[in-house]
Amino acid sequence: MTETSNRGLPITIQGVTKTYGAVHALDAVDLSVESGEFLTLLGPSGSGKTTLLMTLAGFTRPDRGSLLFGEEEMIRMPPHKRDLGMVFQNYALFPHMTVSENVAYPLKIRRRPKEEIDQRVEKALETVQLGGYGERRIGQLSGGQKQRVALARAIVFEPRILLMDEPLSALDKKLRDRMQIELRHLHDKLGMTTVYVTHDQREALTMSDRIAVINHGRVMQLGTPKQIYDRPANRFVADFIGESAFLPAQRDGGRILCAGRELLLEASPPDAGDLLVILRPERLQLLAEEAGDDMNSFSAKVDDVVYQGDSFLLYASLEDGTTLALRDVVRRDTLGALPRTGDKVLLGLHARDTVVIPAEEGEAA
Ligand code: ADP
Ligand code: MG
Repeated sequence: MTETSNRGLPITIQGVTKTYGAVHALDAVDLSVESGEFLTLLGPSGSGKTTLLMTLAGFTRPDRGSLLFGEEEMIRMPPHKRDLGMVFQNYALFPHMTVSENVAYPLKIRRRPKEEIDQRVEKALETVQLGGYGERRIGQLSGGQKQRVALARAIVFEPRILLMDEPLSALDKKLRDRMQIELRHLHDKLGMTTVYVTHDQREALTMSDRIAVINHGRVMQLGTPKQIYDRPANRFVADFIGESAFLPAQRDGGRILCAGRELLLEASPPDAGDLLVILRPERLQLLAEEAGDDMNSFSAKVDDVVYQGDSFLLYASLEDGTTLALRDVVRRDTLGALPRTGDKVLLGLHARDTVVIPAEEGEAA
């Protein structure tokens, strides 16, 4: 790797609380970001993502709590002394300046010599693939190019922490998909600790080392994309990331009963009262006959079958009235044999794919 890799500062957030009147924008948030990690704050609008990022940046002073960059307490440190790179959704570029002047700005206010500024600006522009664009006016750039300028300005002074708040949400989907990969590569190359905010679950899954799922100012789950997707800790996370139906389950001694039968599980269930089983469309399968002993099965009646070319969606109702969906690929040999509305079918869910969560909204996990 480069000589600058692995230079990101770890971040430790402890008990950070911020209220606006009756609104708990942040509710005793504890969160650690490792050195050089790409961590995403993912949550719906109003969940507290921007408030947390602004607390890191120093523009919002929390009511309580501690914030460390490395070993140093930051809570009372003014924003300009925190040495952070920041990128916002709306670019926040200076429209009357050229590309180069925009990117040079953080170095100018740090009073770096002109020679060094020129050199670093050129290098930053090349890093974001805008080499040779220095003399352009901001108004002459496309949305994607403007966002690259904002990024160059954020990294030009080689900060050890980079904060980004929905930086791609103003771009069209194709460009957004490409920029997600580009940003991730840039992060890997520069090695700074990155905290990224989005409400887009796919973006979070694509880019992150770990995701903190936020709701009502609380961390609902912290984990790798795979942990968050495959093992959601509570109903909010299971609902917000991917699609799911939920089926009630009951504890019966050491066993768990669901739809009148014992539920087969590989992971141990949460230590809670009432439980829910998560049924994801892509984890369910159509069974031709009664399941083997590593598979849970559910009798259902088909409500609808939707052919989508490469795959099909089957909507069905279980005996208790729970409705769910199943998605699978269409193969030549199964095409003619797809069930029809009104058919009785048996749906399978492998024990290793069977996830049980508390029926009540969970606390941080
Ligand atoms: P997100 O970025 O996840 O959409 P925010 O952090 O912007 O959420 O907001 C979290 C909550 O705090 C919301 O209910 C929002 O209305 C409230 N809030 C944020 N900033 C202020 C403010 N300056 N004054 C009053 N309420 C605010
Ligand atoms: Mg926001």
